[in-house]
Amino acid sequence: MKRLMYMLLFVLVAGTMQAQKAKYVFYFIGDGMGLNQVNATEMYLGEKDGRIGVEPLTFASFPVAGMATSFSATNSVTDSSAGGTALATGSKTYNGAIGVDVEKNVLQSVAVKAKKAGRRVGITTSVSVDHATPAAFYAHQPNRNMYYEIALDLPKAGFDFYAGAGFLKPTTAFDGKDAPSIYPIIEEAGYTIARGLDEYEAKAATADKMVLIQEEDAPTYPGALSLAIDRQEGDLSLAEITESAISFLTKGKGNKGFFLMVEGGQIDWACHSNDAASMVNEVQDLDEAVEVAYEFYKKHPKETLIVITADHETGGLGLGTSSYTLNLKALECQKGSVGTLSRAITDLRKAKGKDASWEDAKAILSAEMGFWTELPLTWEQERTLRDEFETSFKKNKVVFEESLYAKTEPLAAAAKNIMSQIAHLGWTTGGHSAEYVPVYAVGAGSKLFSGKMDNTDIPKRIAEAAGY
Ligand SMILES: [Zn+2]
Repeated sequence: MKRLMYMLLFVLVAGTMQAQKAKYVFYFIGDGMGLNQVNATEMYLGEKDGRIGVEPLTFASFPVAGMATSFSATNSVTDSSAGGTALATGSKTYNGAIGVDVEKNVLQSVAVKAKKAGRRVGITTSVSVDHATPAAFYAHQPNRNMYYEIALDLPKAGFDFYAGAGFLKPTTAFDGKDAPSIYPIIEEAGYTIARGLDEYEAKAATADKMVLIQEEDAPTYPGALSLAIDRQEGDLSLAEITESAISFLTKGKGNKGFFLMVEGGQIDWACHSNDAASMVNEVQDLDEAVEVAYEFYKKHPKETLIVITADHETGGLGLGTSSYTLNLKALECQKGSVGTLSRAITDLRKAKGKDASWEDAKAILSAEMGFWTELPLTWEQERTLRDEFETSFKKNKVVFEESLYAKTEPLAAAAKNIMSQIAHLGWTTGGHSAEYVPVYAVGAGSKLFSGKMDNTDIPKRIAEAAGY
């Protein structure tokens, strides 16, 4: 009798352990999303609500939280390829490496392990499919700029679903020579390519494997989805990509679960430009994609794991510059990204050149940033803008501010800096910083993600939670 009891107990315990394995894994990476990017967004939402404090994002409310290092094997401050490789493979490598170690040996990603364990695999992003973070999960190249070669690795990995804005170099090899288009190569490997959501919906049912990208006439094709702050009706969004990925990875029979990586790639880009308003919108945009996953989790709570982290912080964002206060609500007055403002100023120069008046420039700054109409400026702030206007319009000395992903009109750059001043936000860099990044988790195996960890621990713990 006693033996039977023990056996029953064993079966029960084994059964629960089995049930705790994560059949469905969501791995969200907010590129450049340090803790202050999250905190700033939550406090911005609090201020919009008329109070001091945080309005929690969905992912930041998850029951498990931790923090992770971000340094690479060669640099205290990582780039996105070494950071992505650490988060994908569990090995630190040199800045610039995609899925290879410091000796350029191939590293196996947690996505490959998931595939070998019989799961369907999706790799998705809000930037181009061949960009560093998604590439770290499926490609193996010594240099992150080898976009063509990275794209050729995509069908070799053989994952089920890829999505993003497009491909940066579909017909040009790294040496600059013309090369056969990647599209027929990807199709011949059994993939259906869908451009836009309508095409996805028309083709998904019969497709064996899928690559979903933007329509070619999308204004931000192929580098990125439109920024959340600039998004127009009909623009593909990260939440829609997440929804499509879930439907594709769970369709038909033989559903053994999935591993889905979703990158919010433009938090990083907004922070490289020190564009705070675009940043808080991108963090919320990632949260909207997480909400899609969270809805799925609520239907399969015992079998689903959601992990959110970042590859590094970007911008060295500081919350508070003086007088024990923030004024994040001011960011709401910015109507589009700094890129949009910059284009409006370029358009004014093209239309009127030296004949453009300060009133013309003021009208744009007022419409795009809310200056004067919604946000009063100090004498010094107005002087700064006026000086930039004089230099770049009247004297025709136009020195664009260059960051990693943007070239910004000097007047737009000055306006963006004033917006951060008004909000009391500080930036230490136009690059990345070495800050710890946050880790949040909910669901099966989520307890593994509490406390302090190395970034290389995260994919290992996902593999453990999912039983790969
Ligand atoms: Zn970056």
